[in-house]
Amino acid sequence: MSAPTASAPGTPPHGTSPHGTASVLTRFAPSPTGRLHLGHAYSALLNARFAEQHGGRFLLRIEDIDGTRCRPELIEGIFEDLDWLGLNWETPVRRQSEHMADYSAALDRLSAMGLLYPCFCTRKDIAAEVARSGAAPHGPDGPLYPGLCKHLSEDERQARIRSGAAYALRLHTDRALTQTGPLVWHDAQAGEITADPLSLGDVVLARKETPTSYHLAVTVDDALQGITHIIRGQDLFHATHIHRLLQALLGLPTPAYHHHRLLTDETGQRLAKRAGSPSLADLRAQGWTRRDVLRRLGLEASLES
Ligand code: GLU
Repeated sequence: MSAPTASAPGTPPHGTSPHGTASVLTRFAPSPTGRLHLGHAYSALLNARFAEQHGGRFLLRIEDIDGTRCRPELIEGIFEDLDWLGLNWETPVRRQSEHMADYSAALDRLSAMGLLYPCFCTRKDIAAEVARSGAAPHGPDGPLYPGLCKHLSEDERQARIRSGAAYALRLHTDRALTQTGPLVWHDAQAGEITADPLSLGDVVLARKETPTSYHLAVTVDDALQGITHIIRGQDLFHATHIHRLLQALLGLPTPAYHHHRLLTDETGQRLAKRAGSPSLADLRAQGWTRRDVLRRLGLEASLES
């Protein structure tokens, strides 16, 4: 991977030393929604290895903002699994649930820029509108938000909020892009990428029960922690279009990216908890060793110690 790119000409990348070489800082950022599996091990090991190879540092971050899905009792299991893999990370470990004020500050800033709007739609409302319109544009995660609440008048918005209706805050993505102009980011495999945040539409940046979204929290944290290289699965490639836009809007640096391949089982199915893939704890209980994991991941040569 190349050195991280600056967010604007003249802005040194985060972690740049006085001599101009960025000190590498990577992170593994799991959500405690289930036990880790081999796919997580691959990501964590790639991050740790990259930091080690570049004389850098490796952090662990717990992404537990979603109180409806995260289970705090699984955090110990993450430590246990990573320790079993032989990884060392710096402490204290940042837990996103303890830093909501940081995300609110970013949200306030976007709001002051006129880039957020309240959306009162339920999933059902959105599905009905998508079905009605027939040819709704689709993004990598399904149909894009069809914009039902985008053009409500300010009076209408305030009246609905006063009535106690639940709402999410969405990013006015096209307006945001008008403010930033064209943006690029760099992926170790795909090369220079022109950011295409419109492909994800007006993403949700906060909800009542979760006052930040993954997109906002991850972007803010990577900047606050000074992450220089983001190594994560290919499934998050598209999310980077939005992260790049948020970086530009919030004046944050842009790390270098490496979206790595996703691991599959013998049938070609992606490893995932919901697909019933065995967890690292299951494999350990079956007698697997760290060396077995490294061999399965094709990483034994570079990581054997
Ligand atoms: N927390 C995310 C996950 O568990 C990963 C975030 C990231 O690496 O950007 O899928």
